[in-house]
Amino acid sequence: AFVVFEGGEGAGKSTQVNRLAEVLRQHSREVVVTREPGATGVGEQIRGLVLGRATGPDSLAPRAEALLYAADRAHHVATVVRPALARGAVVISDRYVDSSLAYQGAGRTLPVEEVSWLSSWATGGLKPDLVVLLDVEPRTGLARVGSRGGSPDRLEGESIDFHDRVRYAFLDLAAADPKRYLVLDASRPADEIAAAVADRVTGMLAD
Ligand code: C5P
Repeated sequence: AFVVFEGGEGAGKSTQVNRLAEVLRQHSREVVVTREPGATGVGEQIRGLVLGRATGPDSLAPRAEALLYAADRAHHVATVVRPALARGAVVISDRYVDSSLAYQGAGRTLPVEEVSWLSSWATGGLKPDLVVLLDVEPRTGLARVGSRGGSPDRLEGESIDFHDRVRYAFLDLAAADPKRYLVLDASRPADEIAAAVADRVTGMLAD
């Protein structure tokens, strides 16, 4: 099974990814925890490239950025995700295609349809079984990230408007395919979120 976590800055994805992995391992499942961008050697280099040039005078052209995220994803799917799924592991990824639709599409205002083709070509059409969307109001999320000291590795410099477009793009994707999504309010206590996710995923795996 392939489970993806999505959400804006400071949504708490990495905490929840690890909590779910813990629960599934207790159920004796093989779990592969991974992320985009940057899960592979090549991916780490791509991550450095895109995040180092996300804003500022030297910033990447949006189409170049989209292609680099797609390249990271193509390599990640081919070398990590598909082989793990083929062995019967549960793959949990921190970000996947929806992040590109939201950030490169809605955020950078590239046509979402085109970003979607690009991702679908990159992945050979591999879709997650479940997307957990941790929905966070941008000001709250950015404040959380800020209180951790911030990071040059994130898009904290973008406008609230940018982050709002990203947020609503995620919510629209979830609304368009409700069976594949679990949307949770990221401002709820981490334990409650973890319990809701564990419930849904263990139910799904039992089917
Ligand atoms: O999830 P994580 O914090 O590792 O993401 C790193 C940064 O990359 C974030 O600022 C995120 O918004 C950005 N990103 C992006 N487009 C993607 C994936 C991530 O702009 N497709």
